[in-house]
Amino acid sequence: MKDRVAEVQLTAESWSPQQVLAWAFETFGNAVAISSAFGAEGMVLIDIASRLRKDFRLFTVDTEFLFSETYNLMDRIEQKYEIKIERVFSLLSPEEQERVHGAALWTRDPDQCCNLRKVEPLRRKLGELRAWITSIRRDQTLIREGARKVHWDAKFGLVKVNPIADWTSKQVWRYLHEHDVPYNSLHDQNYPSIGCTHCTRAVRPGEDPRAGRWPGTGKTECGLHVIEIQPLRQSPEAEA
Ligand code: SF4
Repeated sequence: MKDRVAEVQLTAESWSPQQVLAWAFETFGNAVAISSAFGAEGMVLIDIASRLRKDFRLFTVDTEFLFSETYNLMDRIEQKYEIKIERVFSLLSPEEQERVHGAALWTRDPDQCCNLRKVEPLRRKLGELRAWITSIRRDQTLIREGARKVHWDAKFGLVKVNPIADWTSKQVWRYLHEHDVPYNSLHDQNYPSIGCTHCTRAVRPGEDPRAGRWPGTGKTECGLHVIEIQPLRQSPEAEA
């Protein structure tokens, strides 16, 4: 599969999100799914996917610490797109986590909390797939700068597809408004990036859009998106 990625990687960089998604659906069939936490970018992907294939797979890692606005959006997505969101949970309920690791683990060791509630459940889910689709954009964080539209995810051992890697936030919002796509109402209350209730706050004027995630900890990612910077290789056809 790594060879397959190398073949299309460079070509895919010029594809539109629709083309990238169509390629992923065609190549992986039912073994590819969109992973989403239902931020603005995720909603763009879900809407585009729904226009290509009615029965696309969509999953979310539900930490059980999400905002009620996020759960509300999930209900609206299921109704509008007539799909069932596949929800993946931690092996530990919030109560069990507190019993085993103590109260408010997120304040003492957010990396461990994210590992228990996000990374391990994601790894379990990805174990049943050959490729996953995410809505990360290159200009969101330094780590994400290296994302390709199609690349090999060495951390989880499958193909990772990022159809809107080269989009700007402006393009995302233009798409949402032009296509009347539902979005999380917290975005209108200065929450550009939304995660768990314990680790997300509204941003203040002039702050980085991700300043509201794990504020004061120096943490910027939950460990789901680790990107190896790979040189883009020419496909054999392109080299010819
Ligand atoms: S974002 Fe916070 S509460 Fe959510 S899993 Fe990570 S550390 Fe825990």
